Parts: sequence; structure tokens; C-alpha cells
Amino acid sequence: MNVSCGKRAEALEPERPREHCGVVAVYGVEDAAMTLYNGLFALQHRGQEGAGMVVSDGKNMHFCKGMGLVSEVFTGDFTEHLPGRTGIGHVRYSTTGASRSVNVQPFLGECRDGMWAIAHNGNLVNAGELRDRYQKQGSIFQTTTDSEILLHQLADPAFFGQKDRIRNALAELCGSFAFVIARPNCVYAARDPWGIRPLSLGRLGKGYMVASETCAMQQVGAEYIRDVNPGELVKLDGNGMKSLRFADVPAGGYGQCVFEHIYFARPNSHVFGQSVYTVRTAIGRRLAQEHPSGADVVVPIPDSGVLAALGYSHESGVPFEMGFIRNHYIGRTFIMPTQRSRRNSADLKLAVVPEVVDGKRVVLVDDSIIRGTTIQKRIDVLRRAGAKEVHVRIACPPTRHPCYFGIDFPEASELVAAGRSEDQVRRLCGADSVGYLSLEGLRSVLKNPEHFCFGCFDGHYVCGTEHVVCRHALERNGPENLEDRHHRYGVLMQ
Ligand code: SF4
Repeated sequence: MNVSCGKRAEALEPERPREHCGVVAVYGVEDAAMTLYNGLFALQHRGQEGAGMVVSDGKNMHFCKGMGLVSEVFTGDFTEHLPGRTGIGHVRYSTTGASRSVNVQPFLGECRDGMWAIAHNGNLVNAGELRDRYQKQGSIFQTTTDSEILLHQLADPAFFGQKDRIRNALAELCGSFAFVIARPNCVYAARDPWGIRPLSLGRLGKGYMVASETCAMQQVGAEYIRDVNPGELVKLDGNGMKSLRFADVPAGGYGQCVFEHIYFARPNSHVFGQSVYTVRTAIGRRLAQEHPSGADVVVPIPDSGVLAALGYSHESGVPFEMGFIRNHYIGRTFIMPTQRSRRNSADLKLAVVPEVVDGKRVVLVDDSIIRGTTIQKRIDVLRRAGAKEVHVRIACPPTRHPCYFGIDFPEASELVAAGRSEDQVRRLCGADSVGYLSLEGLRSVLKNPEHFCFGCFDGHYVCGTEHVVCRHALERNGPENLEDRHHRYGVLMQ
């Protein structure tokens, strides 16, 4: 077992949104531990603060988890301590619950009927109410995350004798969730009724695999079968695959997170039935149609703006050049010891190539603008390197609202586009022009755009607004808020 502990630094105020987590599960495969490791490695972009896995040999469940990257948590001959053909894994980035080893998933619990292990990607907006209910009944929570709620529901005597215990528990949850659940002899996977977070199902040899993104399946040679449907609970065991429903299609329809396509998911993944690479380049082409520039060169912010810049270049005929080079040896800025060193490292991350931009009119492409501070710096660097003009092109509409479904956006007051026109943003950033992709343009590149959430752009959330109000109150008053705010504002936590 590898569990790290002790004092650690909290995150630098994130300039770009960060994903909550990634999950993976396998049933009936050779060497589950190594398969989970490879799957988690492919999902590392979804969370770099902690990683863990639980593996079952059919009788006992073995676990290993800790703070850090997948390659830092699972070291040496870790597979020898994790025998079995079935298991689940998790990579974590915290948006609720502090960044502490106790919050690293999967969570294990022993109920009257044996061991359960759970791992979660998403954010439960009614977690505060459910936690309150269980604490009033005397439950003691081991973590400060919303995810632990499900374990308490599974152990709840009110649910315990019920045939549809898992489904009844899931039906109580509101918000975004992709859960993988392990028992000694089977694995479950469930996706929230709105389908906010992605979850895919595949075949691996004679067994099965479930993962947040198909890139994890590609990594281990699993064959993609289909997505876990919104409101579906899939059971994988010795009898094969069984599909159960725990919720109907919501009255307001689905709400798949469009930011998975804009920024979070890996370009070699398919999410929500579409190639991420294809969607991002199509966004860039549409951006060029909506906001032509007459510039000399298209330069992406690496890596987030590369594919949109490529699409922009193809459509406009303006040459694509790597005007910024990313330093891959900088490490994880958010675990550096002081705010100053974290800011400094963030500045070191990208270096300009003067030969590409000197004397040129530059189109600078990025996926999104959150606070506006980073883009300001990049424009300044380009001008100092000799750029004649800098025209910023953004691969999504202005981000004016927070997210309540597991994405770490700041509050509206900190979003540069909230309450400002595009021209005001331009002046603030110091650009010659700023062009955002329109909401209509974004919808035009998506298959079934009516199935997507655009809440951070238009303020319309697919579910849980009544809980969102509760959550606001909790965030202002509750102990969880203290941790979250410390987390967000870079205070050292124990
Ligand atoms: S509000 Fe934005 S980031 Fe959050 S789920 Fe909706 S689209 Fe995704």
C-alpha cells in the first residue's frame, strides 16, 4: 500500500478550468492492476493530485492510493500487491473537498454484505443535504468529498434490504456523476440522468472495461462498445453485461458538458459520440469564418489552442506556426511551495519564438479566457518579441457563469467576460481584436447540440438550480467552504 501524507501546498488560482476526475474499471481481465494503471495513465490529464485503485481477486479487495501522479503513486512491483482480474481506478483533481490524501479515491467501505469500493467523476449538487441527513443519523464521514455520500447510501438500513438498492441510491443524487463501483465479484458503472460527464464501455479480451474517455481503452487495446447511457446502471459479472435503468430521461433533456470537447478530453478520445480532434478543428474552422483576421501567422497557446488554431489556419489559409514553445519539464505548478514560485513556474511554462512573430500580424488562438491574466501576459510577450498586431481568437463563447458540475471555474465576479463586452475584454487584455466563437457556431459543430450543457456561457443549467442555491449558502457558511476557499486561494492546508 502506498499512501502519502503530510503538509502540501494548495493550488495556484487556476487560469483555465480544471477537470474534476477520471475513472476506469475492468472486469475479468488478465492482470487488472496493470490494465488499470495503463488506463489511469491515459486519463492523467483529468486529475494530477492523487490516484488510486482497488483490485479484487474474487474474495479479497486490495487497494493502493496516494497523492501525486499515477507514476508516482504506483511504483516498483505494485502489481504483486494487487492480485486479481477485477477492479476500479481513479485520478483526482479536487473541486470539492480539500486536496488531502484522505480524499483520494477509490473509497472502500464494509457493509453488512461485504466490501464495496467506489470512484466518482463529477459533482453532486445535493451532497450538502444528503450529508446532513446522514450526519443527523449518526454517520461519521471519513472524507470531505461529495463522493462518499454513495457509500453511506449503500450502507443505509433504509436502502439495505431493497432489491434495487444501488438504483434507489443513485436516483436520489442530483448533479453530475460517472460512478464505477467494485464488489468482490462484479463491477458496476453508472452515469447521471443528464449525462453531464462522459463514461464509455468496452470489451477487453473476454472481459470488460469502463472509462471516462476512450483514450484509456485505446491505451490497453480494448474495443469500444458504446457509452454508458445517461440514467443507466451497467453490471459486469460472470453472466456478462446487464443494463438497468435508475432514472428516466429528464424533462429538460440531457446536458453533456460541452467543455469536454472544448478543452478537457484528450484529442484521441471520442466523447459523447464524437471525435474530440474533429470537433476542435471544426471549431477552429468556424472561428475563422466568424472572425477573419487578415493576419500573417496563426499561433496557438500550447497545448490547449493547438487544434482550434490548426482548423483556423486550414480555413483561412493563414500559415500555422508554433510561436510559443512549451517547457515540458516544469512540473506541476500547483504543488509548488509558495504562490510566488507557482506564478514564476507558470511564467516559465511557455517561451516565445521571436523568429515566428517578429514584424508579423499574429492571430493568437486559445480554448477559453477565464480570468484574463494569462492571455494578457502572452500578448505582452508577443509584442515584446516584435509582433506588429495581436488578434485573439477564442474557441468558445465568453465564459460568464460558474460551473456547478465538477469543473473548477472561479465565481462569476472573477470571470473576465462576466459583465463586460468583447471590446472591454479586448482593451483589458491589450489585444488589437478579440473574437469569441458564437454559441450558434459552437452548436453547429456538435452532433445533437440539444443534448449539451452550455451553462457557463448562457447561465442555463440542466439540473439542480434549487440545490445550487443551497450550495451557495454552504459555500458561504459551511466548513467545506473554508477548505474549498483555501484550496482556491492558495492557502497552505494540513
Ligand atoms: S456549466 Fe460549462 S463546464 Fe459546467 S457542465 Fe455545463 S458546459 Fe460543462
